[in-house]
This record gives sequence, C-alpha cells and structure tokens, in this order.
Amino acid sequence: MTTKELDKKYVVGTYARFDAAIERGTGSTLYDEDGKRYIDFGSGIAVNTFGAADSVWKDAVIKQLDKIQHTSNLYYNENGARLAEMLCEKTGMKKVFFSNSGAEANECAIKTARKYGTDHSPDKNIIITLENSFHGRTVTTLSATGQEVFHQFFTPFTEGFRYIPADADALSEAVDDKVCAVMIETVQGEGGVNVLSEEFLDAVEKITTQRDILLIVDEVQTGNGRTGSLYSYMKFGMTPDIVSTAKGLAGGLPMGATLLGERVENTLGKGMHGSTFGANPVCAAAAISVIERLDEEFLKEVEEKGRYIRTELEKIQGVRSVSGMGLMLGVEIEKKAVDTANECLKNGLLILTAKTKLRIVPPLNISYDEIKQGIEILKGVIEK
Ligand SMILES: *Cc1c(COP(=O)(O)O)cnc(C)c1O
Repeated sequence: MTTKELDKKYVVGTYARFDAAIERGTGSTLYDEDGKRYIDFGSGIAVNTFGAADSVWKDAVIKQLDKIQHTSNLYYNENGARLAEMLCEKTGMKKVFFSNSGAEANECAIKTARKYGTDHSPDKNIIITLENSFHGRTVTTLSATGQEVFHQFFTPFTEGFRYIPADADALSEAVDDKVCAVMIETVQGEGGVNVLSEEFLDAVEKITTQRDILLIVDEVQTGNGRTGSLYSYMKFGMTPDIVSTAKGLAGGLPMGATLLGERVENTLGKGMHGSTFGANPVCAAAAISVIERLDEEFLKEVEEKGRYIRTELEKIQGVRSVSGMGLMLGVEIEKKAVDTANECLKNGLLILTAKTKLRIVPPLNISYDEIKQGIEILKGVIEK
C-alpha cells in the first residue's frame, strides 16, 4: 500500500490533506516520496524555523540524543533550566512552564489566569477572547477560540469565556469584576492573518492595567521570530502578564512554553500543573539552538524578506491585498484560496490557507533565491 492508502485506511480522518507525502529536504526546498521538488512557503505550519534538516539545529539535537532522550520532571534538567533563563532574559518575563504544544501552552495560561483571579475574588474567572481567534483543539482551548464553528460536537464546553470583536468599545463593555484576563493574538493566524490595530492593543493594555486584569498574548504562531521580533508583542510595546508559545520554538520538535510575568510568577504552586514531556531535553536543546540564533540582525532580515515578498505579491494580477507582519503573511486573492493552494502544490510550491486567504509562513532562513522561485510559481497560478 502507498502512504496515502495506508493513511486513508488506518489514520483517523480529521485532516483534509494536500495530495503529497513530503519525505525530505534542505532549507526551504523539499521533496516528496516521488522525488518531486517543492519550495516551502509553509514550514510545517510555522514550525520549521530554520527549514528542513538544518545543520546547526541537527547538531544540537544529536548532541543531546547521544546523552539521554528524556528524564521527566522528577529531576532537574539543564536544557530546560537554561532555556527558561534564556527566554526570561530576552523577554523580561519571570518564569516559564514547558509543555508540548500550543494548546497546552494556552491551557497553562488559562489555568494561571483563573487561579490568579480566584485568589483575589471567588468568581473572578472570566477570560475575554476575540472573534476570529484560534487557541487550540482541547475542549478548553476550543472554548477559548472565538469562532462558532469550533463550538460543535463536543459539548459541554468549558465555561467562562466571553467573545468580543477587536474593538475598544466592545472591550470596555465586556469588562466587569468577574473578568480575570484578556487573551489575544496580535496577528490572528488561523483567523485570516489579521493584524490587530494599535488602537485596540492600546485599549487592551490600558484596561488590563487599570482593572487588575491579566493580559495573555498567544504567541504560538507569531512567536519565535516569525513577525520580525522575538515575540510580536514587543513590536507593539506591550507588557503582557502571560505569553504562550509553541510552533516554531523548537524548530520542528514538539515544545510549548508559557512565560509568566511578575504578577503571576508565583501563582502556580507544587502539584497544580504538570506535563510528562515538558522541557524534554532533546526538544529543549533544539529550542535553545533556535532562540540563540534569533538575534537582532537575523530578525531584521526576517522583516526585510517579509517586505520583499509583500512588494512582489502586490504586483501580481489577481492579488487584492496582503496582510501580516514579517514572514507571516496573508494574501487575499480573487480566486478561491484552497484551489489556488492545490494548484501551487501541483506546480511545486507548498503554501497554506487561512480562512479565505493564502497564508505564507516560510522557514525564517529561506533564501532570496527560494523566495523568488516560490513567487514565480504563485504568480503563474494566480495569473493563469
Ligand atoms: C497553532 C495554534 C495553536 C494550537 O497549537 P497546537 O500546537 O496545534 O496545539 C494555538 N494558538 C495559535 C495562535 C496557533 O496558531
């Protein structure tokens, strides 16, 4: 049986897959099982920060694999501790909880916010989230997600979320003494690569500070250099209390992290939360090697590449608009995004969609040569 046949027969059918089995690659150039070549504008959904089989990343992983693969959180673990130090020093946050995915990173954020709120007042447990947000696939993070389509099939959902449009008036209307946190993505990834307005983000900062409400920024997709700064909130000059991240953090190995600021650094105590694989030494070694390389010069290049792609896209007939920041771009086109993405695949370009847009989230070290090849394919498909 082929991979596709095996998958159809034995793997739970929750995914609408593209018709390709990606086998290997170097950087942003990948090959499928049939040897067909692709330019990668998706990086495994904003995960392979330094592309496929990057040598620095691979060395860090292999070095740890030669020592030990896993120890559990019953013992101290150097890589986890060093990574936590690194993340705190680079962000000003105080403590880190490690997990394995974005949903889990958000679960920790939600638990922390509820504990903080109810420590102050018994029913201060409501979390405000935004329409078009996406926070994960567990029952609670689906509940946090402000899109009706995600609130089906699995009732009862976790209570305690209030959904608002990204609008300052709606925010002040939704805030009362029961609200313990506001949770946002600065750029809504799955929701269509929507950059929130500075005006709204200012209003969020203001009201959360004034009303002793926690500010949670979900940086699962926007984090780890994706938008041209280490975390996107930095670009907006915000001071979140909780930051969740995952996707690109360990450059292709499963890792989530929840960064806690001063107000909540001691909110969770012994026995209140845990994760068997959290801070797994191999994943943590990978993450250290990723975070180490995201220096100012590199992040500037991410911005420049993003600007270049944007300019080139805007020249294409049939492109209505381009949204996003850094190397996280949404492209509104006249054609249907899903059909266009499938056509791109046939022509050797891996590209994603987000709602009605195409979504471009390539490895951050994609070369200009690969960018040009990818844009050429996209242009051909869109203008055909
Ligand atoms: C992908 C994503 C998640 C969920 O991450 P998983 O690792 O799939 O659990 C949560 N929030 C945002 C903003 C995401 O993009």
